[in-house]
Amino acid sequence: MLNVEGLNAWYGQAQALFDVNLLVGEGELVVIQGLNGAGKSTLLQSLIGIGPRAQGRIEWQGAPIQGWSAHRRARAGLGFVAEDRRLFTGLSVKENLWIATQAHTVSGGQDTPNQRCDRILSLFPQLKAMLHRPASQMSGGEQQMLALARTLMTGPRLLLLDEPCEGIAPVLVAAMRDALLKLARQGVAMLVAEQNNILAQHAQRVLLLTSGRMHQVT
Ligand code: ATP
Repeated sequence: MLNVEGLNAWYGQAQALFDVNLLVGEGELVVIQGLNGAGKSTLLQSLIGIGPRAQGRIEWQGAPIQGWSAHRRARAGLGFVAEDRRLFTGLSVKENLWIATQAHTVSGGQDTPNQRCDRILSLFPQLKAMLHRPASQMSGGEQQMLALARTLMTGPRLLLLDEPCEGIAPVLVAAMRDALLKLARQGVAMLVAEQNNILAQHAQRVLLLTSGRMHQVT
């Protein structure tokens, strides 16, 4: 599904990724661990086309996509949730979800935006209960759920998640983990960067990044 070979990335003269190889198969949950500054965010951003200068091969469903724009990668099924969530804080939960369908939707989806919205909200009852609340009036964990739900509205085939359970209340960590595991069981592939071992124990593979170099753990 996603096959990365020899990926290098640089911020100016400083190299952040060194010959990274990575494979995510159909429906797999793969976790990348690593300390702060190891390169996890740089790797995810490079894969979706918003990273720094990079070199290497990124193959998605058989096509080399390293030359593609971020928009084209998203349309092809790569969905990203950033660590800083990037919500429209002045808009409500419902508006944040609907705006995602205006931006782009992965081609080939079967369901209507309404059906998709209902399906996604059934994963996150917390969001369903606050559809008209502005995102600015939600807790960090609720905002994290909304960011994930918004990305799901585009119908991604692979979710790239940067620290989805970091810095949120324990009760919401459990809800987030359960929602992600449910999505995994439904066949959505995931590549997750995390430091806190919440999804790692459920992953098909755990990889470790140290100073921009990838090692396989399990
Ligand atoms: P964290 O969990 O703290 O975000 P990370 O594993 O995601 O860490 P990155 O944020 O990818 O690590 O950082 C990898 C390296 O690239 C670090 O040395 C960092 O200082 C550097 N770096 C990250 N972003 C930039 C930037 N915008 N400009 C210059 N250097 C950067």
